[in-house]
Amino acid sequence: MSKHITTTPKKQKRIYIPYMCDHSRMLAAALRACGVEAEVLPFPDQESIELGRRYSSGKECLPMGITLGDFIKKIREPGFSPGDSTFFMPSADGPCRFGQYASLQRLIFEELGHKDVEILSLNTIDSYGFANNKSDSKTFKKLAWKGIVAVDTMEKALWYTRPYELNIGDTDKVYDESLKRIDETISAGNGHIEPILKDILAKFKGIPVDRSRKRPVIGVIGEIFVRANKLSNQDIVRRIEEFGGEGYISPISEWFMYTTYLFWKTALHDRKYLDFIKGKIEDLYQGRVEHNIASIFEGFVRAAHEPPMEEIMSNCAPYLNCSAHSGEAVLGIGKAVDMIRNNKVSGIINILPFSCMPGLIVTAISKKIREDHKAFPWLNIDYDGTAGGNIWTRLEAFLYQVKESA
Ligand code: SF4
Repeated sequence: MSKHITTTPKKQKRIYIPYMCDHSRMLAAALRACGVEAEVLPFPDQESIELGRRYSSGKECLPMGITLGDFIKKIREPGFSPGDSTFFMPSADGPCRFGQYASLQRLIFEELGHKDVEILSLNTIDSYGFANNKSDSKTFKKLAWKGIVAVDTMEKALWYTRPYELNIGDTDKVYDESLKRIDETISAGNGHIEPILKDILAKFKGIPVDRSRKRPVIGVIGEIFVRANKLSNQDIVRRIEEFGGEGYISPISEWFMYTTYLFWKTALHDRKYLDFIKGKIEDLYQGRVEHNIASIFEGFVRAAHEPPMEEIMSNCAPYLNCSAHSGEAVLGIGKAVDMIRNNKVSGIINILPFSCMPGLIVTAISKKIREDHKAFPWLNIDYDGTAGGNIWTRLEAFLYQVKESA
């Protein structure tokens, strides 16, 4: 590994985190709570996509190009100091290209003459903790996890409320204010967010709504970046709402629960019993936090509690060998089956970056899942970074189909 790729943040450097989604703010907040200067980069735009394309071969995955474009925009800012700066680009062990982003971006920085820019690449091998400084690592992981689950849950409240609001903009306002409160609390190193979340729930409940017009609920599964990043997916939930539906995206927390699950499973297989115990403790902690926060919103949001990872694996097993470690595919299939079987949604949209390997596996298998579930309405959409009316037309037609088949 290049000496400019680190697995532990340095307190004398400022860390810049790409704005994949609002959860990115929680990572920055948790780093700040550990005494690390961290900030989230501005939300990506078309320029990010174009810069990413210009400085890569064009064959890379869309998320790699967008984050690269964001980093280059930052590097070009007047006063940017390469030696004092670190870009955040996590990684994953396994067959996917995600594991190569950090190395490739470092190479591109060098080619561009910015050899001093460092990358912080937390990895599944360390369960997304710091390789060194275990005390800060523990604090970071606990606070980040609380923040991530809180954002997941607040998003569920947003999606459950916004399509029915009587005064346009009320729900977004409550959500934005809530996000700021959680961000500030985590930044201050306070993980006691449950009382704040109870207050936030009361604010969502206070929004005037009209639920007399029924809307089909559309579940969105797929590759994590495109699923979460509104630029990449052309703000799919809002589009679903515009076309008369209610959107619901698989939460970000599922990826971390999956990597923890893989960690202890692999440790058990390799007879690394200490790692197995560590993984199990983390698994229990994650599950407890998720349960506590989801319980606050239970009865108000759709599917407050996420299915356990074992259940997602067993949902996926008839369609794909889960030991293939092709995370995004396993999660997408397992979650889609959960949504269909438990009547959580009336239609499924699988979204993926153009040529995404796990995404294409889900697309290929979707035919069989549909057949097994009475031709359940299903749409696969791949995004290549070009905004287009074609996707919206397909989406509108899909919503019409779902409404007709309901
Ligand atoms: S999941 Fe898809 S988009 Fe993400 S790194 Fe893998 S191949 Fe690329």
